[in-house]
Amino acid sequence: MSEKSLASQLKEELFLNRRNGALVISDDEIKKADDFCEGYKKYLDAGKTERECVKEAIRLAIAEGFTEYDPSKKYSAGDKVYVNNRGKAIMLAVMGKKGVSEGVKLAIAHIDSPRLDLKPNPLYESSELAMFKTHYYGGIKKYQWTAIPLALHGVVACKGGKIIEVSIGERDDEPCFCVTDLLPHLGREQMSKTGSKIIEGENLNILVGSRPFRDDKESELVKLNILKLLKDKYDIKESDFLTAELEAVPAFKARDIGFDRSMVGAYGHDDRVCAYPALMAAFSAKTPENTVISVLTDKEETGSDGNTGMQSRYMMYFIKDLAKAEGYEVHHVLHKSKCLSADVNAAYDPTYASAYEANNSSYINNGVVITKYTGSGGKGGTNDASAEYMGEIRDMLDNGKVLWQIGELGKVDGGGGGTIAKYVANLDVDTVDLGVPVLSMHAPYEIVSKIDVYMAFRAFEEFFK
Ligand code: MN
Ligand code: MN
Repeated sequence: MSEKSLASQLKEELFLNRRNGALVISDDEIKKADDFCEGYKKYLDAGKTERECVKEAIRLAIAEGFTEYDPSKKYSAGDKVYVNNRGKAIMLAVMGKKGVSEGVKLAIAHIDSPRLDLKPNPLYESSELAMFKTHYYGGIKKYQWTAIPLALHGVVACKGGKIIEVSIGERDDEPCFCVTDLLPHLGREQMSKTGSKIIEGENLNILVGSRPFRDDKESELVKLNILKLLKDKYDIKESDFLTAELEAVPAFKARDIGFDRSMVGAYGHDDRVCAYPALMAAFSAKTPENTVISVLTDKEETGSDGNTGMQSRYMMYFIKDLAKAEGYEVHHVLHKSKCLSADVNAAYDPTYASAYEANNSSYINNGVVITKYTGSGGKGGTNDASAEYMGEIRDMLDNGKVLWQIGELGKVDGGGGGTIAKYVANLDVDTVDLGVPVLSMHAPYEIVSKIDVYMAFRAFEEFFK
C-alpha cells in the first residue's frame, strides 16, 4: 500500500468534502431513520390539513403526558404543556430547569400546505355536471392539480354554532373528486400557452357529480341532487358553504419511493416533514436546561398573516405568560432565545440542474439543511442568520453527530422564497432556517429522503437538550 500523497492528505483536511450521507452514517442509524419514517407516514396520512395536523398532534401529545396550558397554574421543570391556537396552530412546551431565565429554544414548522380551497359559494351546475369553484392556496403550478384524485377536508360552521367536520375521499370505499383537463387531441392551443396559463385559476373547477334529481320540470337538477346528498350526509344546505373552510387536497397516501425504499413520497411534506420531527423532539425532551417550545404554525404558504400565522403575536404572548410566571419581562427572554425555523429547502434535482448552483445546493440523503438566508434578488425579504449563530448550530450538530449540509434556495435571481424565520428574528430572537431538502416542492406529490427526515428530528433533539 502506498502512502497518501501530501495533496491528497491536504485535500482531505482542507476541502469541504461532500459525501452521500448513506455512506457516512451507520447501518444502525439508517435503520433508525427508516423506523422513524413509519411514524411520519402515519402522521402525514392523519394530517392532510393544518386542522388535522393539530388534532393529531394533540392526540399524540396527550398520550405523552402533555396537558393544556393554564396561565394561572405554576409549572416546574419537566412539565409538559400545549396551547391550541384555534385548532389551526399548536405550541408544545417542556419546562426547563432554568425556566425561561436564559431564553427559550424554539423549533417552528408550518402545517399548512398548498391546496385548492373551495370558494365561499362553490357549487354550480354546467352542462349537467355539478362542480365546485376553487381558489388555490399557496404557490402552485396549477397544471399539476388537474386529473389527479382529490379528497375534501375541512369544517362547515352551521347556523347556531354547530360545526360539522368533513373528510371524504381518502378511504378506498369513499368517492373522491377531480379537476378535469383537456385531452391532448384538442389541446393544440392550450399547449402553446405559457405554463402559468395552461390551466388558469378559474379553470380549477372540481367535478363532484353528474346524475340529476328525478324530476322533469325543474332546472339545475344535478346540483339539486348533490345538495340533497349533502343534506342527507352532513345536514347542510347551500348557504352553509358561505361559512365553511373546505380544502381539496391530493387523495394520495404517503408511500415509500424507490427500489431501495430510501425516500417517502406524499402530499404536504412542506412542511409537515419538519413539523413531525419538531413534535417528536418535544416528546423526547425530558427535562431540558432551557424551556423548549415546538410550534406548528399555520398560514406560512400565504405569507404568515392572520391570527394563526407567525406574523400574529400568539407565540410572543405565550412566552410573555411564561416570563411573567417567573418574574421576567418578555423582551429580556426573547433577546436570549434561540430559534430553528424548521422549513424545507429545494433539493438539487439533476433533471433541472440549471435552476440550481451545485456548490450551494442541498442534496437528498446528505442530512438536514441549514439555510443562512432565503428571500429573492439581493437577499430581499430575509432573515440573514449571523455567522456566530450559524457557528453555534454547526458545533451543536457536529457534537451531536447529526448529518447536516448547507443549501441556498436555487440560483441567484432564479426566483426565491421565504420562511417564518424573519418574523421570529424580528422579535429579537437568534434564528436560522434548518429543515429537510425536498424534491418536487409544492407539487401534489413531494419527495424526501428518510435519512434527512430523521436527521431533522436529531437536530431538534440536540437543540432541545
Ligand atoms: Mn415551507
Ligand atoms: Mn412552501
